[in-house]
Amino acid sequence: MKKTCNAAVFTEVGQPLVLRQFDVPETLEPGAALCGITMSTICGSDLHTIRGRRAEPAPLILGHEILGEIIELGEGLTRDGFGEELRVGDRVSWTIMACCGECFYCRNDLPQKCEHLRKYGHSCCEEPPHLTGGFAEYIYLSPGTTVFKVPSNVPDDVATPANCALATVVHAAEAIELKAGETVLIQGAGLLGLNLIALAKQACAKQIFVTDISPDRLAMAKKFGATTTLNVKESAESDVLATIREKTDSRGVDVAFEVCGVKEGVAPAIRALRIGGRYLIAGLVTPGANLGIDGNQVTRKCLTIRGIHNYKPRHLGTALKFLAEYYQRYPYAELVGAMYPLSEINQAVEAAESGKFVRVGIQ
Ligand SMILES: [Zn+2]
Ligand SMILES: [Zn+2]
Repeated sequence: MKKTCNAAVFTEVGQPLVLRQFDVPETLEPGAALCGITMSTICGSDLHTIRGRRAEPAPLILGHEILGEIIELGEGLTRDGFGEELRVGDRVSWTIMACCGECFYCRNDLPQKCEHLRKYGHSCCEEPPHLTGGFAEYIYLSPGTTVFKVPSNVPDDVATPANCALATVVHAAEAIELKAGETVLIQGAGLLGLNLIALAKQACAKQIFVTDISPDRLAMAKKFGATTTLNVKESAESDVLATIREKTDSRGVDVAFEVCGVKEGVAPAIRALRIGGRYLIAGLVTPGANLGIDGNQVTRKCLTIRGIHNYKPRHLGTALKFLAEYYQRYPYAELVGAMYPLSEINQAVEAAESGKFVRVGIQ
């Protein structure tokens, strides 16, 4: 193990990330772990921070979609989230957050809202343990992080982003109780939407409608198995609605998922749902997302509207098992479209911003 390592640090909005050296922690708290980072991917939320669309403390090591190898285990951390024995050298993924396990929210099955929550890629790197983000050679996993051994048949580039998008939509599908034979509308064909398509397919959805404004993203949605893709920039809402009704016996969809982050999509989804339909909102993460919906429709159509944010540790376990079983049925191998070494982090950020790839990787 090296005594120092490199990390790319975000210092200020609009400025390039800066490579800096940090001391690798020599001692671990009980329950903590030190991992060598094999690969990270750049999430849309990292780009939001770099461009100032989201406020985060600085200086900061960004990156939360991370795959690593265990270098050292703190006292008491002996088993992974599946209950299997953990050893030095294991290839692992982990929850994007560490939680205390004792506070009100932890006790009420909302560990992702822990009062002492620590999220990777979100905390100032001036304070120990410094190495808390993915754009680095090492990462310190705080006690309260659930670590999972990655199934050996899942390649690095498929496994790396799973602890963000896939785990979140596993939570979403569970929260809205997605069932076999249902018709589904997915708003947004980013990584959340694509993973949802795969989950809906495996749940035997009858119809999967996907909306987006990008022809490239909709083409990828088609590859993942969307039965109907609809470009909401090019088509009038009435036409989109007519297509959905025509293919759902004039009733509308059973379930809709908002994973596009666009508040203007909510009212059309309410109109596209059938009586008794369920709507899961997972993408509206910026304040001020007034929905502009007709409450009368919610009442008269007997709708269920539910929000989720992030996920619980077990959802990441389900996500990794899902990939181990099914990833080859879907174009998961195409998601990471470009790979850069850590030393070229700013080129990687630029490539991610070009929108040409679902994900850009850093090795
Ligand atoms: Zn992410
Ligand atoms: Zn807690």
